[in-house]
Amino acid sequence: MIELEDLTVRYDGFTAVADVDLRIDRGEFVTVVGPSGCGKTTALRAIAGLQEPTSGRVRIDDRPPSRARERGDVGFVFQRHTLLPWKTALENVAFLRRMAGKPPDREGAGALLRSLGLEGFEDARPSALSGGMRQRVAIARAIHLGADVLLMDEPFGELDEITRDELGVELRSLWRRERKTIVFVTHSVPEAVFLGDRCVVMGDDPGRIEATFDVNLPEPRDTEVFGSRAFQRRVAAVRRTLHDGYEREVP
Ligand code: ADP
Ligand code: MG
Repeated sequence: MIELEDLTVRYDGFTAVADVDLRIDRGEFVTVVGPSGCGKTTALRAIAGLQEPTSGRVRIDDRPPSRARERGDVGFVFQRHTLLPWKTALENVAFLRRMAGKPPDREGAGALLRSLGLEGFEDARPSALSGGMRQRVAIARAIHLGADVLLMDEPFGELDEITRDELGVELRSLWRRERKTIVFVTHSVPEAVFLGDRCVVMGDDPGRIEATFDVNLPEPRDTEVFGSRAFQRRVAAVRRTLHDGYEREVP
């Protein structure tokens, strides 16, 4: 379980995140959506133990986040892939796990790549892969690390919309299989609604939580969902919150 209690982060007097309270249960898929600069990355870095809170605190399973991270219990996926260019897709997936001192599992790494549609690309280097494929490798790497918690900061932000939708469907089905705790940051409202069990809407100046929505869409979620009325109503409700302030009920 991830707990944020009154999390406040200031940079030289500028308040990036103010009094954020949030509890994320084990196995929950939470999305965080908000305008650029509202403190999403700052909050995520605090959850990762990469940013010390100015006040308040963060706990992952009752431990300081830095401890959870050092033990390889927290995995990351960033907007820009951070694969090692000289290693193959399979080596990139295996590498982090080795760094964390966990037993190697080449079979598992290969199976993950295949489940993410990368069969036949195991030996390709990142330069030979498309942007979407690289992000698939980065996701496989984070999952292969064996972390229970995955923190994702706009991982599909640089992808075209079609690839983005496809990867969203795959991530959601991967989550259904693996049941990791996922915190996924995005500035795309449809992406936040499609992916999350719960969608946290942030406002800015100072960065804070405006509202939280239970998403409750039928499973499994596939691209059909985008056209459904239920999906569109939820997207509209989140948009209203972002534009007008409070709107706590999903209609
Ligand atoms: P988001 O990810 O939602 O776009 P960030 O968390 O990156 O927002 O940033 C929140 C605010 O804090 C922004 O106004 C940004 O300019 C500011 N900020 C972020 N990092 C720093 C830093 N290291 N020093 C000073 N200001 C920062
Ligand atoms: Mg950011």
